[in-house]
Amino acid sequence: MEYVLEKERKTPVADRTQVLVAGGGIAGVSAALAAARTGAKTLLIEREWLLGGLATLGLITIFLPVCDGQGHQVVGGIGEELIRLSLKHGMEKSHLPYPAPWVEPDGTPEKRKEIRWQTQYNPCLYALELEQLLLKAGVEIRYGALISDVVMDGNRIQGVILQDKSGRSCVFADAVVDCTGDADLCQLSGAPTVCCESGNKLAAWHYAETAGGRRLRMVGCLDVSEDMASSVQKELEADPGKNTVYSGLDAVETSRMMQAAHAVTLQRYRKEKKRDPAYEPVLLPAIPQLRMTRRLQGAYTLDEAEEGTYFSQSVGMTGDWRKRGPVFEIPAGILYCGEVEHLYVAGRCVSVTESMWDITRVIPCCAVTGQAAGTAAALQALHGQWDISELQTALIRDHALLHLRDAIPPIVR
Ligand SMILES: Cc1cc2nc3c(=O)[nH]c(=O)nc-3n(C[C@H](O)[C@H](O)[C@H](O)COP(=O)(O)OP(=O)(O)OC[C@H]3O[C@@H](n4cnc5c(N)ncnc54)[C@H](O)[C@@H]3O)c2cc1C
Repeated sequence: MEYVLEKERKTPVADRTQVLVAGGGIAGVSAALAAARTGAKTLLIEREWLLGGLATLGLITIFLPVCDGQGHQVVGGIGEELIRLSLKHGMEKSHLPYPAPWVEPDGTPEKRKEIRWQTQYNPCLYALELEQLLLKAGVEIRYGALISDVVMDGNRIQGVILQDKSGRSCVFADAVVDCTGDADLCQLSGAPTVCCESGNKLAAWHYAETAGGRRLRMVGCLDVSEDMASSVQKELEADPGKNTVYSGLDAVETSRMMQAAHAVTLQRYRKEKKRDPAYEPVLLPAIPQLRMTRRLQGAYTLDEAEEGTYFSQSVGMTGDWRKRGPVFEIPAGILYCGEVEHLYVAGRCVSVTESMWDITRVIPCCAVTGQAAGTAAALQALHGQWDISELQTALIRDHALLHLRDAIPPIVR
């Protein structure tokens, strides 16, 4: 590898804030909202020009269940607020039933057992509504800014370096929440991280206009037959150095993944057009559709075997989107590590085992961990420290559901 030596440079300190949230996906939106509502001056930095991350720009527009599939609501607080917001302009036409028993006052417990509390929404309207929500809460949003480094003071993150159209600058913060999905700030600050072993299969979700109206087409690599594989796809598969599992952490590989996804979308268009002359793609993902890439190795690592376990330090709960029944309490220790101070994580990069990752990476759980991490960061910024009872009190005040007994109605085992 060849190297160049860059000139030493003075970087202007452009801003100071109490809580800095890196990334404006569902986790970042939830963290920023929670931090601002807890009373901290909050700045959210997003490299794109819209909020929502995968849930809007990535066209993943299915808000998976906030219930356990057995009639209990297990996600409260900001998670519930965001799923209700997703219905503000009506539910998008899809295979999902409208969750009437959960949103209408006459919903009975029996009916809630039949239908899961999940929605599908319009990504454009949702991104606009998320922005309004944060602005009303007093969050300052900075778009078009990539965080490329951190400034450390010993083992404490003092600030971040960002690159935007104005150049390179530094923002100091009392506490930082890494909601980049890829644990970028953890990596940059030297916090322990773990990369996903199973990697990411190709996905090419897009919106298309069809004879039946506009539809989300959930094209994943597994849904693509041999004959649909494009020349780019075949070339990638034939390349001995590559396979069709993507880490999401290598820039060249991710660029190739995007090209393969585009080619698959074009193939799908050609095939569908023969069946349905109205078929046309109308919206493509603007960011890579990556599920699991890199995460923090935190003070605690939650595992799928801990289903139903009571944690005295719980900061929220999640169900399992794949099956009815399981509920997990989420211990605070998955949001931080001992090695780097003033750093919290939320969303796709919290500290969980490989099998648990598939459960915590989805939208409702990203909102739960976002609210908890944002509240903890705000308490840290405002008081210099927090203890678990203070954090839990603040979360309960903001309607979070922490333990199985807090589910609506309570889960008794
Ligand atoms: C194909 C696929 C299908 C899925 N299906 C579903 C589903 O049906 N339902 C569901 O609930 N979930 C689903 N998921 C998972 C879910 O969409 C995401 O995991 C979730 O939305 C992640 O939220 P997040 O905020 O943690 O991360 P992201 O949405 O990835 O947000 C991270 C944000 O940080 C920004 N960012 C990253 N790095 C930097 C940086 N260095 N500087 C500044 N900004 C940065 C990004 O631009 C982005 O906006 C699916 C995911 C995929 C890929």
